[in-house]
Amino acid sequence: MTAPVRTQDSTDVRASSSAPLSRSSAELIRAEEPVLAHNYHPLPVVVARAGGAWVEDVEGRRYLDMLAGYSALNFGHRHPALIEAAHRQLDLLTLTSRAFHNDRLAGFAEGLAALTGLDMVLPMNTGAEAVESAVKVARKWAYEVKGVPADRATVVVADGNFHGRTTTIVSFSTDPVARTGFGPFTPGFRVVPYNDLAALEAAVDDTTAAVLIEPVQGEAGVIIPDEGYLTGVRELTARTGCLFIADEIQSGLGRTGRTLAVEHERVLPDLVLLGKALGGGIVPVSAVVGRREVLGVLRPGEHGSTFGGNPLAAAVGSAVVELLETGEFQRRAADLGVILSDGLAALLGRGVVGFRARGLWAGVDIDPAFGTGRAISERLMAEGILVKDTHGSTIRLAPPLTITGEELRSALGALEKVLTQGM
Ligand SMILES: *Cc1c(COP(=O)(O)O)cnc(C)c1O
Repeated sequence: MTAPVRTQDSTDVRASSSAPLSRSSAELIRAEEPVLAHNYHPLPVVVARAGGAWVEDVEGRRYLDMLAGYSALNFGHRHPALIEAAHRQLDLLTLTSRAFHNDRLAGFAEGLAALTGLDMVLPMNTGAEAVESAVKVARKWAYEVKGVPADRATVVVADGNFHGRTTTIVSFSTDPVARTGFGPFTPGFRVVPYNDLAALEAAVDDTTAAVLIEPVQGEAGVIIPDEGYLTGVRELTARTGCLFIADEIQSGLGRTGRTLAVEHERVLPDLVLLGKALGGGIVPVSAVVGRREVLGVLRPGEHGSTFGGNPLAAAVGSAVVELLETGEFQRRAADLGVILSDGLAALLGRGVVGFRARGLWAGVDIDPAFGTGRAISERLMAEGILVKDTHGSTIRLAPPLTITGEELRSALGALEKVLTQGM
C-alpha cells in the first residue's frame, strides 16, 4: 500500500525537521567548516541584521561596521532610498536578459555616463567581470583602431595590484597567495612598479593596448600615488596612443571624497571600471564606462552577460547614481576624512607606525610589537568595531559614508584603547 500523498505546511516542516530553529553564532561557525570552501578566514562574528553603519549578530550584539563590504556598502546597510528602489522593482520586473530591452537600462546608462563624464556604459555584475571586459575591449580596440598585429596586444599593470580573482586577472597579480597553484597564466601583461612613471614609460610600446591601474591601491593597503602620477599616466597614454583604464571598483563612488578618485588630479581615463558600491550593497552591479570610440568596438554577440544590466540591477544602480548626484556622500567622505586622519595622526608612535588616508578610507600600519593586523581586528571586534586586516600588520578603515562623526570618533577611541592594551 502506498502512503497517501500529503502536503506539508510550514508547521509540518518545522515539526519534522531535526534541525533546531535557530543556531548560535558558535554553532553556525562550526557548521560552515565541513561544507563551505575555506577561501576566506572571517572574523568570528555571524551577522544577522544591519542598518546604516551598524550590524547585529545572531545573539543581538551590535558592531560598528568599519569595513563596509570593502566599499560595497558606501551608503550603509539598507539605505532607505536603495531598499525602496529595489522593492519597487521587485514588484515589477527583475530579469529579461539582454535578448530583450528593459525599461530601466537606458536611464541607468544615461545617469552613469553623466555622473562620470564619459559616453557609454557596458553593464556587468562583479568587479572582476568589469576588469575582464575592459581587457577584452582594450585588446579589440588595439587591433581594430591602433593596428596592433593579431594576438600581440599587451596591457601594462602595476605591482601590488588587486583587480579580482579570475584566471586572467590573477595572471597579472603579483601576490603569490593569489597566484600560486592557479597557472598556466594568460599572457599579454607587463607589470611595472606602481607610482613610477619612468618604469611605465619604458614598458609601453607599439603593442600596448592599455595601462590598467587603481588610482588608489586598496587591497595593497590604501596606497596613494604621488601627486602628478595620475596626470602623468593620462599624459603618457595619450602621447603614446594607448588607453588609460582606471579601476575605480573600490576607490570610486564617493569613497575618497570625490565621485571618482581620478578627480583628485582632474584626469579623465578612457575607461573607468566601477563595481562594489554601484550595487548599493543589495545586488552585484558593475560597469565599464568609457569613451564612445573605445566601447564602440563591441558588436552584437562579441561580449555579454546573462545578468548584466538586468532591471533590478539597473533600478538599484540608478538609485545609487541619484544619491551620488546630490554630492552629499562625496562631501561627507571629505569632511569625515579629516576626523579620520586627525584621529590616526594622534595615534602615531602609540601603536600606529604609519597610515595613508584619502577621504573616508585609510590603511593603518600597526607596530608589529602591538600585534598582527588580525590580532588587532579581533581585539577591535571585542570592542564592537569590525575592521579587516590586509598584508600582515596593516588594517583598513573604510566605514559607510553615512557614519556620523561621533560614531567615527568612537571607533578611533576603540582603536586607541586596543593599542593601549597591547603595550
Ligand atoms: C574588489 C575589487 C575588484 C573585484 O571585484 P569583485 O566584485 O570582487 O569581483 C576589482 N578591482 C578592485 C580595485 C577591487 O577592489
